[in-house]
Amino acid sequence: MVQHERCRSAATLSKSVAADFPLHESDSMTAIDDAQQANRRFAEDYRLGQLPMRPAKKLAIVACMDARLTIEPALGLKTGDAHIIRNAGGIVTEDAIRSLLISHHLLGTEEWMIVNHTDCGMLTFKEEELVAKLRAQSKTTPVTPVHFHAFRDLEENVRHQVRKVRSHPGCRATSGCGGSSMTLGLEC
Ligand SMILES: [Zn+2]
Repeated sequence: MVQHERCRSAATLSKSVAADFPLHESDSMTAIDDAQQANRRFAEDYRLGQLPMRPAKKLAIVACMDARLTIEPALGLKTGDAHIIRNAGGIVTEDAIRSLLISHHLLGTEEWMIVNHTDCGMLTFKEEELVAKLRAQSKTTPVTPVHFHAFRDLEENVRHQVRKVRSHPGCRATSGCGGSSMTLGLEC
């Protein structure tokens, strides 16, 4: 019941944020409107808020953001079992490390896992080409990340990300924080 109220307030918060950023008449946000409507229906029956904040399987996963990659069912996980940290490519960035350290030191995860997948968009471009494209579109030097982390070899990328986790001082200083890797095959 407590979570029920929390979800209602989240929906209210969305309206508040929307009020702070009013749309122009020409703006089309159909997908966001649909999502907010769906969330209001979802909140009516949401009962998983009673689950502990700490992941039940003491597992944290860094995974690609690919829309086809449904991490929890793919790995036999239920809601509440694991932290799932997602970005383009499942890359161990500084921000992913930030989340992993919070996950371990504050929320008790003990195993970390890197999940990349076949047919990843990060295999389809070169860093310099994307920077050139952005530069051409903006007609000036665009502000871009230091690296987009495009890669050419999927399995080598997984190994590289695991090495980054294992060599990080915050990981080495803690017990039971080894990295694992898994390559998922997508049925495309
Ligand atoms: Zn991907």
